[in-house]
Amino acid sequence: MKPIEKIELPDVKHILAVASGKGGVGKSTVSSNLAIALARNGYKTALVDADIYGPSIPRMFGIEDQKPEILEFSGVQLMKPIEKFGVKVISMGFFAGRNQGLIWRGPLVANATQQLFQNTHWEETDFIIVDLPPGTGDVQLTVIQKLTISGAIMVTTPQEIALNDARKAASMFNNPGLDVPILGVIENMSWFTPVPHPNEKYYLFGKGGGEKLATELESPLLGQIPLIAELGEAAENGLSVFSQKNKTPVKVFENITESLCQMEFMQ
Ligand code: ADP
Repeated sequence: MKPIEKIELPDVKHILAVASGKGGVGKSTVSSNLAIALARNGYKTALVDADIYGPSIPRMFGIEDQKPEILEFSGVQLMKPIEKFGVKVISMGFFAGRNQGLIWRGPLVANATQQLFQNTHWEETDFIIVDLPPGTGDVQLTVIQKLTISGAIMVTTPQEIALNDARKAASMFNNPGLDVPILGVIENMSWFTPVPHPNEKYYLFGKGGGEKLATELESPLLGQIPLIAELGEAAENGLSVFSQKNKTPVKVFENITESLCQMEFMQ
């Protein structure tokens, strides 16, 4: 079999894929805040929203009404990402109408995914964070096969059912021949701390799931994110959690960023 030809992105240093087994576990929330945290640390960072079945990044960034400008370089048309919170954003949502991606067939999905990367004017970029759709499908396969990925980050909630799906999604990266390293696990919605009781933790969705998955995947648990109203509110309203009063999510994402930046792939 002929080896699959990779898309070359010479101006891009690292591509990190953010994946999950199930939808609604906070993958897009993690992708966005990770990208913002990296940008705040001085890295030139881009975020590609490849979640074709529910692109939520434009809403989270408050840019859903914007369309990227088209630039022309020697007859080749390239999209200029939309910059917000210091992050350059490109999303399937800019092109596919609401829910339109749902009816796309495999080859079209693969094509659209490639174009997101190939037809964008990246300039010099330290990180592209890719927000993948949940599960294992054409987008994930295209991204893994066509791009050189530094590693994947798995997002899960602590429940057993979410872990099962996360395991399946992780096994795609570990597939012989694909071999994308799993850099770590992020557990989201780990616990809830009521504001009047700052020392209490209620484990609404069970306890220890993220740790368990990380152990199984032989990769670190990069962070645990509690349920925090501000995180959801920021996402709904196109705001950055970094500008909000509750600094818990900021600390979590800063720690995750620090751990990532000390990893081997960065050396
Ligand atoms: P996914 O990308 O996995 O489908 P999202 O990131 O879109 O998940 O999150 C699903 C919903 O849960 C969104 O409304 C988001 O704002 C909210 N959410 C995610 N993580 C948290 C959290 N830690 N605390 C509160 N709300 C959260």
